[in-house]
Amino acid sequence: MTIHGILFDVDDTLVDTKGAFARALAAVRAEYMPNVPPEREPEILSHWRTDPGGYYRRYTSGEMDHVTQRRLRAELLHETFGAAPVTASSFDAWDALFWGTFEKSWTAHPDARAAVDAVVAAGLRVGVVTNAATELQERKLKLAGLADLPVLVGVDTLGFGKPDPRVFLEGARRLGTDPARTAYVGDEPTVDALAARDAGLTGVWLDRAGHRRGPGYTGPPLPDGGLRDLQDPAALRAAGVVVIETLASLPGALGYGSQ
Ligand SMILES: [Mg+2]
Repeated sequence: MTIHGILFDVDDTLVDTKGAFARALAAVRAEYMPNVPPEREPEILSHWRTDPGGYYRRYTSGEMDHVTQRRLRAELLHETFGAAPVTASSFDAWDALFWGTFEKSWTAHPDARAAVDAVVAAGLRVGVVTNAATELQERKLKLAGLADLPVLVGVDTLGFGKPDPRVFLEGARRLGTDPARTAYVGDEPTVDALAARDAGLTGVWLDRAGHRRGPGYTGPPLPDGGLRDLQDPAALRAAGVVVIETLASLPGALGYGSQ
């Protein structure tokens, strides 16, 4: 199947959001969680990215706003690590430190710029479909040196985000490509690759070394629904997902460009 267009996820696909969160949470730990030693910063980061309370998912389904999901995640983080509670009166300062550090830390993954250039050079259309707000992602991409990449669909475009299939279909519509000839590239097997596949696109899971969230599913084989918890490349390939470990592999995996 010839691919005519590629849609990219932003966070942890093009932009090193994990690295930016690591710096933001390190600043928070030093200022607000003095009971937690610096050696536990990887655990704090893992807790944040795994979002065990499911608050970001509730934001992307339209249930709560961006600041509320962050406040609830902050409260759960402090509770989990036995730190003094984040209160209504302390959250604003907490958030100013967290979000200010996060914003200052936005950088592209080293393979992102070349990957976007390769898509354009191959004559394919390219854009972004993201589960954050459009304006936020435009600023993020600009600071990461990817300002030329159009944000076609943000979580505010339809009022809900991935994994809803309408989000991917709207992305292809705005890209001007048949969904069946459109690939979606993202770092999350569930919300990105499998969801894009379910919507009729080619789903690509970017399985960057050291970037998986949480331990993934480790139990016995499950029926197809169970794939949603898997981070097993073989199982995802068997489910029709393209798996790559770096964006440099994208042209070869999808068959475009000089490879
Ligand atoms: Mg992502």
